[in-house]
Amino acid sequence: MNARADVLRKMGKRIAFDQPRQREGKGEFGCYVFDQKMMEERLSSEVYAHWLQVMKGQEVFNPTHADAIAKALKKWAVQKGATHFTHWFQPLTLGAAEKHDAFLNWDEEGQAIESFSGKELRQGEPDASSLPSGGLRSTHEARGYTIWDPMSFPFLWSRADGLTLCLPSLFFSWKGEALDHKIPLLRSEQAIREAGLRLLRFCGIEAKSVFSTLGAEQEYFAVDRRLAFLRPDLLLTGRTVFGAKPAKGQELEDHYFSSLQPRILGYMIDCEEEAFRLGIPLKTRHNEVAPSQHEVAPLFEKGPAAVDHNILLMEVMRQKALEHDLVCLFHEKPFAGINGSGKHNNWSLATESGLNLLDPKGDPLVFFTLLAAVLRAVHLHAPLLRACIASAGNDLRLGGAEAPPTIPSVDVGKSLEKMVRELIHKKSVDLRTIDLGLSHVPEHGADLSDRNRTSFFAFTGNKFEFRGVGAAASCAWPMTVLNTIVAESLHVLLDSMENEVEGEKWPSAAPILQKAFQSAESILFSGDGYSSEWRGEAQKRGLPDVSDSHHAYAALLEKTTFQAFAGVLAEKELRSRYEIFVEHYAKTVEVEANVMIDLFRTHILPACLKAQREWGKSLKILADLQMAASPRLQDGLEMLSRLIGDAIAAIDEVERKKEQTKDLGWDAKAKVLAELTRPKMHAARLLVDQLEKIVDDSLWPLPKYWELLYLK
Ligand code: ADP
Ligand code: MG
Repeated sequence: MNARADVLRKMGKRIAFDQPRQREGKGEFGCYVFDQKMMEERLSSEVYAHWLQVMKGQEVFNPTHADAIAKALKKWAVQKGATHFTHWFQPLTLGAAEKHDAFLNWDEEGQAIESFSGKELRQGEPDASSLPSGGLRSTHEARGYTIWDPMSFPFLWSRADGLTLCLPSLFFSWKGEALDHKIPLLRSEQAIREAGLRLLRFCGIEAKSVFSTLGAEQEYFAVDRRLAFLRPDLLLTGRTVFGAKPAKGQELEDHYFSSLQPRILGYMIDCEEEAFRLGIPLKTRHNEVAPSQHEVAPLFEKGPAAVDHNILLMEVMRQKALEHDLVCLFHEKPFAGINGSGKHNNWSLATESGLNLLDPKGDPLVFFTLLAAVLRAVHLHAPLLRACIASAGNDLRLGGAEAPPTIPSVDVGKSLEKMVRELIHKKSVDLRTIDLGLSHVPEHGADLSDRNRTSFFAFTGNKFEFRGVGAAASCAWPMTVLNTIVAESLHVLLDSMENEVEGEKWPSAAPILQKAFQSAESILFSGDGYSSEWRGEAQKRGLPDVSDSHHAYAALLEKTTFQAFAGVLAEKELRSRYEIFVEHYAKTVEVEANVMIDLFRTHILPACLKAQREWGKSLKILADLQMAASPRLQDGLEMLSRLIGDAIAAIDEVERKKEQTKDLGWDAKAKVLAELTRPKMHAARLLVDQLEKIVDDSLWPLPKYWELLYLK
């Protein structure tokens, strides 16, 4: 019996998952977080007040307080059962990195003691030399430094009965260049804070702070672990490189919002309980469109906290899945022919007092100026927005199956678009009419804008939804780009407004806003982003359409990008990101090609040859009995043989195209792999998928799509 058949047999008898599991219990929300309440409870009033000011961006951290904070943190962590601490940071690979150290030291008499100093809190072991730097570090100065970020709350993370104190940290080179996703994100928050406060000041609204808000809707697949473990492609690349379309995919639309199956619900509840303890405010769970696809969405939070929480949540989900004998897949397109997974980034700007700057019911000048700034920013930096969601995985997702297309455009909803267009085309601008329009804005944000699943960037009532972000990506980079380019545009508009506007602000600012809307008009689009007409129309409007990510990255090297990023990322840091992303893209496709070649030659081809032998034997038996074989039988064997031959040739071709890139630099390598190797991989896949449809099921070594998607 082959391994696949064995797993299937066992699954038929499965009872383990239907039994109730012992739950740890939720505990209190955020009970594993050293949050403001803990700070107040466990620190002196002086240290507490200082740390709070640092968190609000009002003061720079004073290192003389580090020892007191370290002592309080260690006491709290050890009381809860922690043994280790780690500087938890976000390198430019995916996810987060951690290196654990015990709360252990020698005292003066050489006795082992539990210890954690302010120095250890502030700075991690300066190394991490194997993480990507994109040329920012040469080998002889390869050190990277992790330093504790006092803007985020430390937390405890429980895994395998061990509890670790995680210190959210920043990662940079010894010259101070950002090597992570978090530093630019925090710098972009500073940029948007300054621009937002300037806007509010201009409009006569008092506020202490402005920050981005983010609610990241996370899509994922959960499949049976034992089946997934028989698919090296899923485990090594996160996606299937082969797999014939099952008899039933998502066409009946019977999975979306369907009743949650107990095994999956049990998994979701476990993830939610862990998230709850970690202070991740998960709100929504539901089945998504594709079979075995689900979504989880949190309440929105301040941008950087939401980014951290999403990264942490993904790791929690990966690890909890294994406890349920599942594998959680965040790849953007794990299965061909059905929907892929995105991470819709809902973004807005808000103040400490809860004012949402994108609320159309709020101050009209604030709302329209910010709207104009967003449109201007998306128009001016369209290629950069495409670049910030670029990845080898997302290339397989974008442009179909409910994922947005690769042409940047903004859907502000029909009624708002009408208002904006009226303003654009008015000869003499009298904003009182627009004011009138606003008072008609319906109470329900949803009515103001429809849910356009084909939109690149959509205004959804009181926030923008960036649907293009890939499920596996960190939200940090797209959020950094959004904050940065919108801050830049706000400053440009406010430069004019502060100079030219006199008297009553709202009407006299109108011509400036009109000009901004006019120059960005070509980005407005509320139609079907998949239609071929839109492709043509977008081309006429001069909008970029970069379907391949390896081309999209070039936007990082544009002068307009360097300008917008002043104070967020220096030119050198942007160049390093370009290199890292291109290299990552190329390596990803290369690994996929390797997996494909291996899988075909060592798993699939032997099974096909066996099937061919069996078929030949049948024909021989007939011949031995001097019975005439049906021509269909002969044809069938011929077809099988031809397909096998074609598949062998196609895989050889994949290998050749991959080998061609051997001595190339990363740019050229990415280009060849994307433009020559990937199409060959696609062609090979089609042949193998045909073979899957005719080879004896009991011989097929890889779990099939229907098994992965439907067996739980
Ligand atoms: P949808 O129609 O897309 O399901 P929801 O209202 O459910 O819209 O919101 C989806 C996500 O958007 C949630 O994570 C929610 O917290 C987030 N969200 C709502 N308002 C804002 C906001 N002002 N800023 C950022 N995210 C927001
Ligand atoms: Mg949404």
